Amino acid sequence: MKTVLTALISCMLSAGVLAAPANDPATLGKIRDASMQSGYAYERLADLTDLIGPRLSGSAGAAAAVEQVADAMRKLGAKVTLQPVKVPHWVRGVETAELVDYAKRPQGVTQRIVLTALGGSGATPAAGLTAQVIVVKDFTELKARAAEVKGRIVLFDVGFDQEMADRGLAGPAYGHGSGFRVGGPKMAAAMGAVGALVRSVGGANFRLPHTGATGLSDADRIPAAAVTAEDAMLIDRLSKRGPVTMRLTLTPQNLPDADSFNVIADLPGTDKADEIVIVSGHLDSWDLATGAHDDATGVAGAMAVLETLKKLGLQPRRTIRMIAWMNEENGGRGGQAYFEANKNALGKQIAAIESDGGAGRTFGVLAGVMPGAEKLFVPLQEALRPIGASVVQRRDRIGAGDLHRLETGGVPSFLPLVDMSSYFNYHHTAADTLDKVDPDQLRRHAAVMATLSWYLANMDEPIGRAPAQGQ
Ligand SMILES: [Zn+2]
Repeated sequence: MKTVLTALISCMLSAGVLAAPANDPATLGKIRDASMQSGYAYERLADLTDLIGPRLSGSAGAAAAVEQVADAMRKLGAKVTLQPVKVPHWVRGVETAELVDYAKRPQGVTQRIVLTALGGSGATPAAGLTAQVIVVKDFTELKARAAEVKGRIVLFDVGFDQEMADRGLAGPAYGHGSGFRVGGPKMAAAMGAVGALVRSVGGANFRLPHTGATGLSDADRIPAAAVTAEDAMLIDRLSKRGPVTMRLTLTPQNLPDADSFNVIADLPGTDKADEIVIVSGHLDSWDLATGAHDDATGVAGAMAVLETLKKLGLQPRRTIRMIAWMNEENGGRGGQAYFEANKNALGKQIAAIESDGGAGRTFGVLAGVMPGAEKLFVPLQEALRPIGASVVQRRDRIGAGDLHRLETGGVPSFLPLVDMSSYFNYHHTAADTLDKVDPDQLRRHAAVMATLSWYLANMDEPIGRAPAQGQ
């Protein structure tokens, strides 16, 4: 009797008469376990980083990455679309600096300064420029010393707060430092500086410079670079003894915008196929290394969501859409293009996940949802408890790089909750390479992304949307 009933139910399920149980503990557990046993995310991470390497917008690496990810998704049977995106095309050149004069400098001695140009930096003459360096600790000090800025190189000497990072506050620590990287050169340019330097934003002071975007535009494109923490401290100490003069050579090129793409791969849903749950990472990376943590881990994790569900033969009610965003690092054009294409039907974008904090130990999920909505996630938390990833932290806004327009438009947004205490040791440096990623941690990370994606794609109750705000 029982067998007849089971056969009848499975027959009705396959005929679509009954909706299959979706967010039940068994299905969620199956997705979690399959992800925890899979090497797929690490294989995709290795392909992106070892076979291609750096993937800065407009580069051959970025173009190859679009093809590689699209091919892999087609191989899974996903519906792949390449969404055109015009991206900034900035190319690094020569980058050298030395201190050619300072108080008590022995005859014939100069000191090499280790630095790297910031994305969007202007160029010096090919032979370099020579100017005095003025060291400031913040914007207030720069404004107070406005009369000294003209014709000088401004150094923002702001240390990275590793203690904050060690205690779970890497994001705010990074936000403080990167504020000077983004806004400092622009302010220095407006005040007549001939160049701008920032102290590298990140920990692990092994005399490694950390690059990143700066807010310069064609109107104020002065040379701008990040010096290592050690070199920033040296310049600061010497400047207390007297004037410090630097010869700075930076020869990056700002080329016309290039053609590129977001890679979009859909696992179509069943009865709610027109509703979309995004799971994503960004495909572009900085050019100093292979963008392993930032953000090949995010892309590989998102790709693995589709692979796991395909392998298990699970079809979600809503469409799960893997997106590998282009140009998160120096323009955000991919997120912008997707928003523009969907802004008139944002109600169909049910939820969006982006992983862009590396693949450190993952503890759960950061949820940008309305107050009270976190209680809808109890079954998900139970499913993730066996792998130590059951935390759901609610915030009004999570501010993920490529999702912020969707989020501002009211789309509930999610990030994996990751230990980022060592993330900024590698992020945007020459050391962000495959060997820094722990395969076991990546598996857990992918398991959280897969279980969360499935859960969002099959929830009965709406999560609740924040009212849209001005873009
Ligand atoms: Zn990133």
